[in-house]
Amino acid sequence: RPRVLSGIQPTADSFHLGNYLGAVRNWVALQETHDAYYCVVDLHAITMGHDPVALRNRTRISAAQLLALGLDPDRCTLFVQSHVPEHAQLGWVLSCITGFGEAGRMVQFKDKSAKAADTTTVGLFTYPILQAADILLYQADQVPVGEDQRQHLELTRDLAQRFNTRFGRTFTIPSPFILKDTAKITDLQDPTAKMSKSASSPNGIIELLEDPARSAKKIKSAVTDTGREILYDEENKPGVSNLLTIYAALTMRTIDELLEQYEGRGYGDLKKDLAEIVVDFVKPIQERTRAYLEDPDHLDKVLAVGAEKARAVASVTLGEAYQNIGFLSPT
Ligand code: ATP
Ligand code: MG
Repeated sequence: RPRVLSGIQPTADSFHLGNYLGAVRNWVALQETHDAYYCVVDLHAITMGHDPVALRNRTRISAAQLLALGLDPDRCTLFVQSHVPEHAQLGWVLSCITGFGEAGRMVQFKDKSAKAADTTTVGLFTYPILQAADILLYQADQVPVGEDQRQHLELTRDLAQRFNTRFGRTFTIPSPFILKDTAKITDLQDPTAKMSKSASSPNGIIELLEDPARSAKKIKSAVTDTGREILYDEENKPGVSNLLTIYAALTMRTIDELLEQYEGRGYGDLKKDLAEIVVDFVKPIQERTRAYLEDPDHLDKVLAVGAEKARAVASVTLGEAYQNIGFLSPT
């Protein structure tokens, strides 16, 4: 079975529709066909400043949501990144083969640091290197992520190739696995920007765990475009196109079918129907998430089992990397 690895940050009280449609939905599918490793990447979640109590809560809420969305600990390995110390250890090694300028070209760092210039940390800068370690430790063949991660995946591939060339074959070179249709779900208020846990305005983001009535309201007040025709045109009608993308993905229908259904009808109709679809989608997820959170001991046990399974793989890879780079093994 080919192997996949992916992660999600516990940087908010809830995931959003972009996280689900761009990434987690695919994680659920890949459990059936792949040897799948998924982690809540808490080490990444401290790069922009955070509250310790919130982080711990959000880590559990993230795990609960992943289970509620369909990850099955019997069919995948679900764990918390900080439970597997090898991530930070390999991250250091990889940082020593990454060019400073190379890291400086990462667009996500430029975006995020530009918005918080005074508080930008070295951790935010080296984040993509740690992400490379996350992936390479598991010898992942594929990495199911949204479009925003493509550049980081490119860096991961470069680092793996570089390490292998300099120190001998150690890492599998991973490929991105990006679902084309839902690779970038955009912000409802700013349909050229991606929907984001940390950067979107409250009205721009549909949170899976928010009051569904609130989600419905946000969809109804989503920025659309002048004009009245419902067309799929990312360039000129990014707002409507985003709504169509979400609609199609949640109902397993094609955009063409939707265009036919809404021919001659207005934005209001489309939004009203989509609001209902989203409400129906999130309600059971919220119930299941709540149920998992009611039993935190069980949740922690699931994560402990996952960490053990993850470590079994990660420690072997780290051992090989340490050996190949020339560290003396402890006796
Ligand atoms: P943050 O703003 O804290 O970076 P985020 O919303 O970008 O949060 P992440 O935890 O960084 O979420 O990413 C988790 C996964 O969700 C990644 O695979 C990422 O590519 C994907 N993803 C995030 N936002 C979107 C989006 N708007 N559309 C499609 N996929 C997305
Ligand atoms: Mg992100």
